[in-house]
Amino acid sequence: MTNVNRFRCKICGYIYSPLRGEPHNGIPAGTEFEDLPETYICPICGMEGKGKIGKWGFEEWVPTRYICSVCGYVYDKVRGEPHRGIKAGTAFEDLPDDYICPVCRIDPKINLEFGKVTKAGFEPLMV
Ligand SMILES: [Zn+2]
Ligand SMILES: [Zn+2]
Repeated sequence: MTNVNRFRCKICGYIYSPLRGEPHNGIPAGTEFEDLPETYICPICGMEGKGKIGKWGFEEWVPTRYICSVCGYVYDKVRGEPHRGIKAGTAFEDLPDDYICPVCRIDPKINLEFGKVTKAGFEPLMV
C-alpha cells in the first residue's frame, strides 16, 4: 500500500482522498489534492451554503483507525492489538502483510463466505 495524501476540511470534516477523487464533480480518482483546481470548493460546505471553503480550508489528514469492510471491526493505531503482539502505536500501514481481521478470523460464517479478510479488506475510518 503506497502512502495516500488525504486532506480534511477544517470546517466540516469532509475528507478528500485522491483514491476516490470526486467523479461527480469532474475530479477523477487519482487526482492529488495539490493538483485540484484553484477554484476547488469543499463539496459539503459548498452544498450547505457555508461559503466557498477552498483548498486553504483543508489540512493534511492521516487516518489512525481502519475499519473492516466485512464485520465493522476497527483497528485503532492508538490501541494496537497487544494480545496479538501488535504494539500500541503501530500504524495500520506497518502491520504485517499477513495481518488478518481478528473478528472475521474467528467467525466461521464469515470465513466460509469471505475467506480471510486481510489488510486489503480494511478502509480508513473517516471520522
Ligand atoms: Zn467543508
Ligand atoms: Zn472483519
